[in-house]
Amino acid sequence: MRGLTGKVAVVTGAAGGIGAATARRLAAEGAHVVAVDTDEDRVRQVVESLETEGTWVRADVSAEDGVAGYVTAAVDRFGRIDLHHLNAGIPGSFATLPELTVDEFDRVLAVNVRGVFLGVRAAFRQYAAQGGPGNVVITGSIGSLRGSADLLAYQTSKHAVLGILRGAAMYGGPLGIRVNAVAPGIVPTDLFAATPDVSGGKDDMSRRASSTPLRRAGTGDDVAGVVAFLLSDDAAYMTGEVVSVDGGASIVSTVRP
Ligand code: NAD
Repeated sequence: MRGLTGKVAVVTGAAGGIGAATARRLAAEGAHVVAVDTDEDRVRQVVESLETEGTWVRADVSAEDGVAGYVTAAVDRFGRIDLHHLNAGIPGSFATLPELTVDEFDRVLAVNVRGVFLGVRAAFRQYAAQGGPGNVVITGSIGSLRGSADLLAYQTSKHAVLGILRGAAMYGGPLGIRVNAVAPGIVPTDLFAATPDVSGGKDDMSRRASSTPLRRAGTGDDVAGVVAFLLSDDAAYMTGEVVSVDGGASIVSTVRP
């Protein structure tokens, strides 16, 4: 992919399935990765596996000082930031609407929405300080586009990041800053395994994946390839876009005419 070699890329949630795959793919394309996560051991292991020189930062993306800390660490190490993949996220509990507590609602939005807001804001401030263009990709979800009865906080958060996406793309366009999102479907990571819908284990996951047009679950690499593309110069004329990476799941109608 064009334009990734030598770039400095921050990836949040980089210890997890999709973030680790993105870190590895960006490094394979020649970028230097700053891998951010709350899970210090796993994020360190991810960085040790990269093809290019990278670094890791233990930080909570929902906290202003956490985000400021990883930006400072990236700039101290590599002098600049070119690419941001805002990917850290949590599923939250799967309480039905009457049972969902305010604390749980706020907990999910703090990471999945405030974390993305803080990350996008930090990216824009850093790009302005560098006087140059920049690039952001947000990890949304099929839950950004579809509803489900037991995922209210998560789906609210994933819908909300599309608001951040579109506002940031409008503001950033004239500054040479592109902002796009990916919307993964079924990707068997720790996050997905935490959902009660898949508590039936592999069989249930296979059943759900087999009802998608491509008849399989996705992988971290499936998502990472699209993230890398959006961060590359091959996507130079794309901004404000939400790209589904779901094996076609989002085009399936559950209502037959
Ligand atoms: P994952 O659980 O494997 O990875 C998520 C990572 O984020 C973990 O390493 C975790 O430690 C980190 N994290 C959580 N809270 C954090 C915080 N406050 N600060 C810093 N790091 C934090 O899950 P994943 O599937 O790789 O999820 C990555 C993204 O993809 C999430 O935004 C998720 O909502 C989205 N997504 C996943 C799926 C799927 O099926 N797996 C589908 C759609 C969207």
